[in-house]
Amino acid sequence: MRVLTADHPLIQHKLTYLRDKRTDSPTFRRLAEELMTLLAYEATREVRTQPFEIETPVAPTTGIKLAKPKPLIVPILRAGLGMLEGMVRMLPSAEVGFLGMQRNEVTLEATTYANRLPDDLTDRQVFVLDPMLATGGSMVDAIRFLVDRGARDITPVTLLAAPEGIARLEADLADVSPPITLVTGSIDEKLNELGYIVPGLGDAGDRLYGVV
Ligand code: URA
Repeated sequence: MRVLTADHPLIQHKLTYLRDKRTDSPTFRRLAEELMTLLAYEATREVRTQPFEIETPVAPTTGIKLAKPKPLIVPILRAGLGMLEGMVRMLPSAEVGFLGMQRNEVTLEATTYANRLPDDLTDRQVFVLDPMLATGGSMVDAIRFLVDRGARDITPVTLLAAPEGIARLEADLADVSPPITLVTGSIDEKLNELGYIVPGLGDAGDRLYGVV
């Protein structure tokens, strides 16, 4: 697995405000979206394209357009929804599928409770959105789900990642053949005993949408 940390100063600036506990939900939502748009630039560096003939007002030329099948964007519910708009803005022709993953607060293990994805993902490039790569359990499950349906390559995109989550992805997905590239805004220090990323930003879902 490749790991790309997007250490652009604008990303770090916006992440700082996102981490700040004084940042309210509307501002948090806007920042998460803006951060996703910046991360999308890095995440789509290897999006597949094909040549495309056009004429400018001056001369014919060969450009490129996105290749088919279209890329698939999969936000993991619920916190991944906070990144969806920022990604779709950069890839408006992509399709969107949804995966609902929930973490058991005691065991910290993830289970799938909803799935709205095409059955056949043969040859698809898939971008999986989840703001926090903490224990890595839901991301491992999500990636296996996509690989089992034939995804060609998979790019998980997270705002923050814990070293423990990255290590789990590397260990648990070592047998997976499609290439995986993790794109993240920051690799933080560690996970605490409650499974929160330190220093992190708290519970991303709660901060996006309020506590339910
Ligand atoms: N999920 C979150 O929302 N925050 C964390 O710190 C870890 C997992």
